[in-house]
Amino acid sequence: MSEQQRENAWGLATRAIRTGHRRTAEGEHSEPIFTTSSFVFGSAAEAAARFSGDEPGNIYSRFTNPTVDIFQQRLAVMEGGASCVATASGMAAILATCMGLLQAGDHILSSRSIFGSTTMLFNNYLSRFGVETSYVPLTDIDAWRGAMRRETRLLFLETPSNPLTEIADISALAELAHTHGALLVVDNCFCTPALQRPLQLGADIVVHSATKYLDGQGRCVGGAVVGDGELVGEKVFGVLRTAGFTMSPFNAWVFLKGLETLQLRMRAHCENAAALARWLETQAAVERVHYPGLGSHPQAELCARQQRAAGGILSFRVCGGREAAWSLIDALELLSITANLGDTKSTVTHPASTTHGRLSAEQQQAAGIDQGLIRVAVGLEEIDDIRADLAQALARI
Ligand SMILES: *Cc1c(COP(=O)(O)O)cnc(C)c1O
Repeated sequence: MSEQQRENAWGLATRAIRTGHRRTAEGEHSEPIFTTSSFVFGSAAEAAARFSGDEPGNIYSRFTNPTVDIFQQRLAVMEGGASCVATASGMAAILATCMGLLQAGDHILSSRSIFGSTTMLFNNYLSRFGVETSYVPLTDIDAWRGAMRRETRLLFLETPSNPLTEIADISALAELAHTHGALLVVDNCFCTPALQRPLQLGADIVVHSATKYLDGQGRCVGGAVVGDGELVGEKVFGVLRTAGFTMSPFNAWVFLKGLETLQLRMRAHCENAAALARWLETQAAVERVHYPGLGSHPQAELCARQQRAAGGILSFRVCGGREAAWSLIDALELLSITANLGDTKSTVTHPASTTHGRLSAEQQQAAGIDQGLIRVAVGLEEIDDIRADLAQALARI
């Protein structure tokens, strides 16, 4: 069996641990960090052949770096894509995708429930270069269909959405995109390939904020784009190597070590979140719990079909609006008040006054961001301790 055949037969956890590392002459077991800006050629002819592309190999770390390459190969096989390019942040991954695949006159059709900075990038910056974006409700396939234009080149979404955990039908939206000659881009940050593989469902591109679950311990900022050899391996990579918002070798090393435990961590995040969601539903001070693993969730059936588990993020609405939500958050002793998610440490936010604070009252209402809404990114502490902290905080409002 060739090395390639052996790797192709591996399951996800094995790929996440074993893919991409070509051991050096030192015989190291853990992947090395190559902190070098450039690489040496054996001769003038070799330098010329590398530069012309006739011969593969490293030239300069803005283009390629062996440590970054291990991370890219691992994430590519985990998502089931032929190519992956690593970026300096999740936002850099989205920018590189847009710069690589769009031109002036093109139109983006996006879910309205996306990361705030992504909306800013589309509205305030891409618009200056002649790319227009319009927004539709994530779960309304007829709205997506009705908003398609002749110039629509990209469909963009996150699923589950933040903070209401709404679920998009990836296969249906991929089909819609392809009937119109457009591409579907999925931000797979909340699920990771451990829970959902959008490329298998027909999406063309997956983007990641590696900052979240891929790292998993809140240490580094990074991102990635995964897809086929032409769209990602050539077009997006071309932007990256020229524009230079590449991932540093150190950060790549942190993320590739994070991938090794991704499946294990995601399973534990999901178990804790599911237990917490079920418990929150029984609490008198809680009006509504949003978690796709609950029977009360409007897309519970789609979630079960599309995802391996329901994820580590939930939100809930307390009676008493902002005042109650803020006093609950302030009473927490274990959970951290911070916007990051996908960390071993559980985190809590009040979306209406932070991540979604720039929206007007009408926009918040349309998006379902109530003043009493609280988001929890459930970490890996003992579930009894997480529950006890929320119980004592709920008792005070
Ligand atoms: C955090 C986040 C991003 C942006 O990633 P950065 O690494 O912070 O640049 C994009 N999409 C989603 C869903 C995120 O949660």
